[in-house]
Amino acid sequence: MRAVAMQSWKNWAGLVTSTPQQVVYPSSLEEVVQVVKEASQQGKTIRVVGSGHSFTALVETDQILLSLDDLQGVITIDDEEQTATVWAGTKLKLLGESLYERGYSQENLGDINAQSIGGAISTGTHGTGIQFGSVSTQVVGLTVVTAQGDILECSETYHPELFRALQVSLGLLGIIVKVRLRVLPAYNIHYKSKRMNLNDCLNNLTTFTDSHRHFEFYWFVHTNVVQAKFMQITQEPASKNSVWNQFKKIGIENGLFWFLSEGCRLFPHLCVPISKLSAKAVPDIEEVGASHKLFATPRWVRFSEMEYSVPADKMKEVMEEIRECLQEHRFAVHFPIECRYVKGDDIWLSPAYKRDSAYIAVHMYKGMPYKAYFQAMERIFLKYDGRPHWGKLHELTSADLQERFPMWNQFKAIQKQMDPNGLFLNPYLSRLFGV
Ligand SMILES: Cc1cc2nc3c(=O)[nH]c(=O)nc-3n(C[C@H](O)[C@H](O)[C@H](O)COP(=O)(O)OP(=O)(O)OC[C@H]3O[C@@H](n4cnc5c(N)ncnc54)[C@H](O)[C@@H]3O)c2cc1C
Repeated sequence: MRAVAMQSWKNWAGLVTSTPQQVVYPSSLEEVVQVVKEASQQGKTIRVVGSGHSFTALVETDQILLSLDDLQGVITIDDEEQTATVWAGTKLKLLGESLYERGYSQENLGDINAQSIGGAISTGTHGTGIQFGSVSTQVVGLTVVTAQGDILECSETYHPELFRALQVSLGLLGIIVKVRLRVLPAYNIHYKSKRMNLNDCLNNLTTFTDSHRHFEFYWFVHTNVVQAKFMQITQEPASKNSVWNQFKKIGIENGLFWFLSEGCRLFPHLCVPISKLSAKAVPDIEEVGASHKLFATPRWVRFSEMEYSVPADKMKEVMEEIRECLQEHRFAVHFPIECRYVKGDDIWLSPAYKRDSAYIAVHMYKGMPYKAYFQAMERIFLKYDGRPHWGKLHELTSADLQERFPMWNQFKAIQKQMDPNGLFLNPYLSRLFGV
């Protein structure tokens, strides 16, 4: 097993830094068990890291950091059941490619593919499409190493309560080593991005969500413009113009946007004109490609992010209130607001628990002050019964979370039972869960 002594670690956004005593890279299930048993004997704690793409201090530790980077890839595929068992450390990019080579794809994904599957499900990572739950809902079985060093299997039918708790569990209940996922025969997606008026978009939300497999929009703050994105399954072959489209996505959405963002950081009064300019530059793109390629977008420009789920039918009201708030306060922000839909589920800590959800995300360019803006947005989300995304910034306390997540107490009871000595805790999670 690879192990690296005392090393500084930071998350993707650069907001969380820590210096673990040791970073370990087990390369088998047995080695994961060994790390857990040794840590337990030595009275140390363990945090698991996927790709470090969470904005919150979930992974922070000054003790043992365990990475599953050496446990990646597809283990088996069951063609009859259409399920794939994969190592939890598998990065979504590799997972998409490996499944595709075998004739399969995931039913939905978020907007990047850098995360590990273990990390993505542990925080309830989601894409968009009102018929689809978060990535955690694609999971049908898990293999977990518990705090006692036991290997535990669970699924919808075998230890179902524990399974519902584990599907989004922030690494608190054990180390997920294998994930069994429901998959679909590989499919192509027809992707269309277009510029639209904000009011037109808000007045047609039901039509757009109901008539497209995937629909999302980005509102360019300080303007009346949105970029609307639609995706449908198609039998058409992959389009040939993808090099030009790649240039638009990488050159405009990343290169040019980074340059403009630096301008905003140095001269915050430029945020309004730059948001207006960005709105004008929204690329009209239409292309066909393999689903795992088109769901993911390159994201090179670094930022901080807060995202909340609210009831799906509140999208319009929340966005109108956000617009009023921005008109009043003119926060120095130029990143668009990202609006998506997720189907309700029955996963205990899922923000979409028992309700179809609208997810609204606000961003701030790295290095620019974000607190006042995020706090104002959070006040609005909370008014509409908002529940935070676990991987993204929020300011809720344990008591606030208990009010908002109906299965909070049940999750805490299982956490206490599974990890009575707090092997998988860190100070952030102890505070958040009041343990
Ligand atoms: C640029 C960017 C784009 C993003 N886009 C989206 C998006 O489209 N949709 C969305 O919902 N979110 C999105 N996110 C958030 C991101 O998907 C989540 O924060 C996700 O958890 C990150 O995965 P990771 O592998 O980096 O996990 P990490 O951040 O490393 O870990 C997340 C949590 O999972 C736990 N964990 C990781 N692996 C395991 C394991 N094997 N067993 C047990 N626990 C484990 C960790 O301990 C931690 O608590 C985005 C983030 C960034 C930076």
